[in-house]
Amino acid sequence: MAESETVSVTDPLMPTYARADLAFERGEGAYLYATDGRRYLDFAAGIAVNALGHAHPHLVAALNAQAAKLWHVSNLFRIPEAVRLAERLVAHSFADRVFFCNSGAEAVEGLIKLARKHHHHAGRPERYRIITCSGAFHGRTLTTLSAAQNPKHVEGFGPLTEGFDQVAFGNLNELRAAITGETAAVLVEPVQGEGGIRVADPDYLRGLRAVCDEYGLLLLFDEVQTGLGRTGRLFAYEWAGVAPDAMALAKGLGGGFPLGAFLATESAAAGMTAGTHGSTFGGNPLAMAVGNAVLDVLLADGFLEDVQAKAQDLRGKLERIVARYPAVVGEVRGLGLLLGLRCVVPNTTFAARLRERGLLVVPAGENVVRLLPPLVIGAAEIDKACDIITRVCADWPREDGAQEATA
Ligand SMILES: *Cc1c(COP(=O)(O)O)cnc(C)c1O
Repeated sequence: MAESETVSVTDPLMPTYARADLAFERGEGAYLYATDGRRYLDFAAGIAVNALGHAHPHLVAALNAQAAKLWHVSNLFRIPEAVRLAERLVAHSFADRVFFCNSGAEAVEGLIKLARKHHHHAGRPERYRIITCSGAFHGRTLTTLSAAQNPKHVEGFGPLTEGFDQVAFGNLNELRAAITGETAAVLVEPVQGEGGIRVADPDYLRGLRAVCDEYGLLLLFDEVQTGLGRTGRLFAYEWAGVAPDAMALAKGLGGGFPLGAFLATESAAAGMTAGTHGSTFGGNPLAMAVGNAVLDVLLADGFLEDVQAKAQDLRGKLERIVARYPAVVGEVRGLGLLLGLRCVVPNTTFAARLRERGLLVVPAGENVVRLLPPLVIGAAEIDKACDIITRVCADWPREDGAQEATA
């Protein structure tokens, strides 16, 4: 019996997650307070969702004010809050059009539909295939699983959605060779998050743009994890100086409220006419109020510059830890506050040791632990997190349970 199957589950939730035996009753900024009274420094941020930390006063106020007025009306009617959020996203991105949904997978699924419809609308229905990258993660719906082709995720769920061709992440030659007369688009994460914080070379992203232009393909970026300031720019594509034709957002967009979106240029979105796509909950007034409040903070003067400065501070400190404890941690990777520590020791054990000392992180592929502090993280909290990481490294492999107090 596999280890995961030996965990006795006494609640009626489907046991699809390997959950830690830890529950929280409240959060404040970068801290979470557990039901047993312990306090944790949260460098998981709900998997890059709580961009502004927990219980940010501006988000709480926006949610409460909207909750007292109107929650949901459906897309049978105009939703002014959605128009406003769309206008702001358009003003700060490459895009002309926005569709709101409720999650990352739904946003990527929207990108896939948009790309197929774009070519169909232009009289090229034979162009429906999408090229994706090894190591990708695009969500857990059948079609987004089919796009990413992670063997662990797809097993037992076939038949998959047809129409995806996979090439090695970062390899432009392989990508060129995979293009046929049936290719509609290329779908890429500017930084692979779940895959292990693998940062695409800016030259690769520029190369993708050139290849897509040459062959008339749409360039689709999955910025579900990288978007909304996580990398220190509003969108990760800005670092490479190239724009996609369409992109998916979610995670940080609602700061913890379920909210996704896909954005596109007018031309890419040309096929998305009345009746072609929909979502009952998508863009409802509650979600829109929170999304607008998130943008109020992210777009404030100096906020993203501050994220970059803090990211540099954290990265420098992590580099020094790696230099000091090469037998435990091998490498720092990432962009902005989307950081990964590639472990030499098993990443899940490393994450558990950090948790025992009060620091929450997220494991990822390639034996990496992700450090995803809220973007509002303070210098003192960065120091505290680095102290905890240093102690865990210094004490490795001593696992006798003798723990020092964590100041
Ligand atoms: C998390 C994630 C998704 C899926 O988002 P859900 O909200 O879980 O559906 C898709 N793409 C990327 C890059 C992600 O990180």
